[in-house]
Amino acid sequence: MFEIIDFHTHPFLTDGQNICNHKAVIPMTTASSKEYLQGLAIHKICGSVVSTDCYTEPGDMWKKIQRNNASAYALQERYGDFYIPGIHVHPLFVKESCEEIEKAAKAGVRLIGELVPYLDGWKEYDDPAFLEILDVAEAYHMVVSFHSSDEDKMDNMVKSHPDLTFVAAHPGEYSAFMRHLERMKHSENYHLDLSGTGLFRHGLLKRAVDTFGAERIVFGSDFPICNPAMFIGGVMLETLITDRDKEKIFSLNAKRILQGGI
Ligand SMILES: [Zn+2]
Repeated sequence: MFEIIDFHTHPFLTDGQNICNHKAVIPMTTASSKEYLQGLAIHKICGSVVSTDCYTEPGDMWKKIQRNNASAYALQERYGDFYIPGIHVHPLFVKESCEEIEKAAKAGVRLIGELVPYLDGWKEYDDPAFLEILDVAEAYHMVVSFHSSDEDKMDNMVKSHPDLTFVAAHPGEYSAFMRHLERMKHSENYHLDLSGTGLFRHGLLKRAVDTFGAERIVFGSDFPICNPAMFIGGVMLETLITDRDKEKIFSLNAKRILQGGI
C-alpha cells in the first residue's frame, strides 16, 4: 500500500469555489470531500482555492485573491494535517502579493498555487511584475505550483529563478510534455505534477521516469475538476515503472519538495 499525497487539488469552502462541472449530481461538502478522498487512500492534499468568478476591475481581482487565500487558511484549520494550503499572488499587486508570501511563510505555509492566471485576470509568467514577486518567493524558499500555458514564457520564468522550486501542472499532450522534459533538462528545480491532461497517454509516465528518474514527478489529480481515482489507477496499475518509482511519485517527492529540498 502506498502513501498518497495529492499535490494538486482545489478544495472549497463555498459552492462557488467548487469547480467540479458535475457537482449537480454529486452532493459535495467540505467534509464529504475529505471523506471521499480518504476513501481513495489519499492521505494528504495540497493546493489553492480557486473560483471562476471573473472580474475586470483590479480592486475586485485582488479581493478575489484575498477571499480565496482566506478560504485556504480556513480550510487548513478545518482539515488539519490533511491539507497543505497554497496561496495566490497577482502581478498587478506586487506589494500585496509579497505581503501574502510573508504572511504565508510566517504561518509555515510554503506553497504558492496552483496559480491559474486565466481565472484571476492575468496572463504572462514572464511579466516583470510577476518575476519581482518570484524574487520574494525565492527568498522565502517557497514552492510555486503553476498551470501550464505559453511555453516560451514558462521557459523565461523558470530560467529567471534557478533557486526557486517550480512544480508545473499538467503533462499535456505530446509536444507540451516534451517541452516539460526539455525544461527539466535545463532546470534542476523544475518538477511536473501528473494532474489534468496527459497521464492517460500510454508510455508517458515511463518516458518521464526513463528520462530523468522518478524524482521530479509528483502525483496530482486536480480534484474536484478531475477524478482522482483515474490518476491513482494510472500510477498504481502502471507495470512499466517500479514500485520504488511509484513510492517517490505518490508521496516521497512531494514531502521532499515541501520540506525545502529541490
Ligand atoms: Zn488545477
